[in-house]
Order: sequence, then C-alpha cells, then structure tokens
Amino acid sequence: MSSARECGVCWYRYEPAAGDEVWQVEPGTPFEALPAHWRCPRCDSPKDRFLPPKEEPVVTALEHLVARYEQAAVRMKDLPVFNPALRVEAVGFHEFQGGQLGIIVTPWFMNLVFLPGPGAASPPREGERRGRALPAGTVDFVGARFDDVGPFESCSLFSPMPNFESAEVARATAEEALLLLVAPPAVPPPSRRQLFTQLLGPR
Ligand code: FE
Repeated sequence: MSSARECGVCWYRYEPAAGDEVWQVEPGTPFEALPAHWRCPRCDSPKDRFLPPKEEPVVTALEHLVARYEQAAVRMKDLPVFNPALRVEAVGFHEFQGGQLGIIVTPWFMNLVFLPGPGAASPPREGERRGRALPAGTVDFVGARFDDVGPFESCSLFSPMPNFESAEVARATAEEALLLLVAPPAVPPPSRRQLFTQLLGPR
C-alpha cells in the first residue's frame, strides 16, 4: 500500500489516489512508481526531497484547555492574584462518568474540572450550577465553554493561590484533593472546610 508524500521544500502533497496532472501521472500511481525524473510539480524539487507527511497531532479538549489558561497566564502575570511560583498544569485527569475528571492548577486558581465526553449527559449551560455526584459527595460544578474546548464544568477549589510556595506543592495538593474526592477513605466525607484544613493546615 502506498501512502502520500510531501515535498520537504514547498509542502506540496503527492496523493497516489489523485496522481499528478502536471506530469501526467495516472491516478492510483504509488509514489514509489513515479519515474526517476519526476519532480515536485510546484517547486521542481527532485523526488528524493519527498517525505512521508507528518501526522496531524490530535489535540484533545484538555490540551486546548491548558493552552487557554497558558495564554491567560501571560496576560495575568502582573496582577496581584498571580503567584509566579506556580504554572498551568493539568493534574490527574482520568475517565470518569462518561467524560474526564481532573484538576487544573494555574498561578491564580485551582479548579476541579469535568470535560464531558461523547458518553456524558448534556453539559450545563455557561454559568449554570449543577451538582455532580462524586464518591466523596455531591459537588457543585459551574458550566463553562471555550470555542476550541467545547463545554466543560468547573468547581473552584482555591482562588487565588497565595499559600502555595511551589508548583510541586500545588500539584501534590491537587493530587491529594482529587484522591479525596474520587476515592475517599471509608469514613464520613470531610466538609469543604475540613478538606482544605487537612490539605493546607489552618489558615
Ligand atoms: Fe515542492
């Protein structure tokens, strides 16, 4: 089976199924079967400059979401709420209730985030508050949406983040919080206040 090749100079793409009108190459001609004198119909580069095309990377909704907050961080960096010791990070995302659940850490907030997948129930509208049953208890999420991410749900855990001295501490806290929420110990679930006191010490 023959696949497409791209010109390393001008990125012209040779598709075997289409052939090449310029050189009168029949549709269905594999790249390997092109005559040795065949050259790029666009830039005249020789055949040996052609390479297998790079696969388009699949950018997930989560990667889009992280990119969004990284862009926002550039704009936020001079504001008092911005903790320069921290960075944007997605922590512990895993399949959950037909979507993905995890924590987004940024230099100015830490949110529990649910990204609905194809199997998830209809997401809340922007700004709409809706309870989601987690193993530790029902947690209120607020509907949000970015064009490149699609709809998602957020629950604020910390905002802003002045008490975190490093990105490692923030990540460890996020991991611990997520664990308490999705795999709580077999004791009554902690209240939000207890949870935060447990994680950070009294403030
Ligand atoms: Fe070319």
